[in-house]
Amino acid sequence: MTSLAQKITPSVTSASLPPAYVDIQSLYERHVPRYTSYPTAVEFADGDFNSPILANLSAQRKPISLYIHIPFCQSLCNYCGCNKRITQDKTKADIYLDYLANEIRQISTVTPSFTVSHIHYGGGSPSFLTPAQHTRLHALINEHFHLLTEVQQSIECDPRNLTPSYISHLANLGFRRLSLGIQDVNATVQQTINRVQSKAHIEECIYHAYASGFTSINLDLIVGLPEQTTRTIEETLRAVQRFDCERISVFNYAHLPARFPSQRKFEKANMPSISQKKAMTQQIAKGLNQLGYQKIGLDHFAKQDDSLSKALEAGTLSRNFQGYTSDNNDQILGLGVSAISNIGNTRSQNSVDLAKYYNQVTQSQLRHRGMSLSQDDLLRGQIISQLMCNFSVNLNDIARQFHLNLNTYMHDELKQLREFAQLGVLSLKANKITMNQEHRPLIRVIASVFDKYLQSHHSFSSVI
Ligand code: SF4
Repeated sequence: MTSLAQKITPSVTSASLPPAYVDIQSLYERHVPRYTSYPTAVEFADGDFNSPILANLSAQRKPISLYIHIPFCQSLCNYCGCNKRITQDKTKADIYLDYLANEIRQISTVTPSFTVSHIHYGGGSPSFLTPAQHTRLHALINEHFHLLTEVQQSIECDPRNLTPSYISHLANLGFRRLSLGIQDVNATVQQTINRVQSKAHIEECIYHAYASGFTSINLDLIVGLPEQTTRTIEETLRAVQRFDCERISVFNYAHLPARFPSQRKFEKANMPSISQKKAMTQQIAKGLNQLGYQKIGLDHFAKQDDSLSKALEAGTLSRNFQGYTSDNNDQILGLGVSAISNIGNTRSQNSVDLAKYYNQVTQSQLRHRGMSLSQDDLLRGQIISQLMCNFSVNLNDIARQFHLNLNTYMHDELKQLREFAQLGVLSLKANKITMNQEHRPLIRVIASVFDKYLQSHHSFSSVI
């Protein structure tokens, strides 16, 4: 058998790797991707990726997941780095659903046979849609795709959009998993970030969600926001205790004002320093641990009986474009503006620009950015995914799977890893990497050792 080492040539040389490490503190300031996928979407290039996606979809024997992007929000949260459109005009969502319906029809006409096990609505704010618009979208999906009877439906919601009847409507449509954007409950922080939502209202939403039939609720928090201190974190932790939900995601605020102009409004606010962010991150982890949450990967926490905790224990935890998941299905069809698909070994993204997306739907020319994954991409993706999920990876196991001579193929990476080991960031024994507990927040930096595309012209967020 021809080994993959013969088929693929390492494209990374020591000259293109990040420079040697000066001190551990500087590693926390390094700008690296979040690695919800590898290669990351910034590596996508123009080309026809619709044809291979549809061909791979037709060949699917296992059920796939759907991701549906709803780009609208009623007001702008100043910290936001998502793909969204701010409007109060609900008729814009009617127009959007017209185009989404067209996209769905184009896919189901060509590939009518695949089945769907999971549906996730993200945004923007999927809760921007009115109940009637949700009913319309739900009917569209049910009409054109084969959903398993046990299909799992999850949705991200902005608590400010929710009422008891709205929540009941979502439950009646079959949603059972809910993710709520909380960020921080302190009033000063909320005013600064332009996202004011009371603790009482959030608690009421959670109460109605469980009473309506939702079985799992995730709360999103952010660390590093302006005006945030250990005192506001304490207040948020007390609220989280009262809310008593299954999962908590704790994201690191990415301050990139050159890319996101609304973040420039924070210039006059008190921004926490890197050491303060680090202290608050540790405070949240400790506080959630005391509340009975287990740490999952880099930034998720889950109760012991939650499926994320079970997946971690079973070694089946995985990562997709939305973050950590117990859904061990990496075949995702993305629908709507900016949505990313991963079917077979092809990744592609619809246009991030709404007008261009509409135009592409009309011309039947969707998915014109993407990439076909090489064996080297798959190999590195597997290493990075295992690091991000388990904080360890046995490189020998992966080398065997890909028929590689590890010492030759990853000579430069191993050299860097030995330097990290000397710094005390990780241990490297018989080519098994294990992150040292204290430096687990640096996992993205270690993952970036295997990123052959990482170049200085990309602007990613810092580790902390
Ligand atoms: S609701 Fe979410 S997507 Fe919309 S502006 Fe706020 S953070 Fe961004």
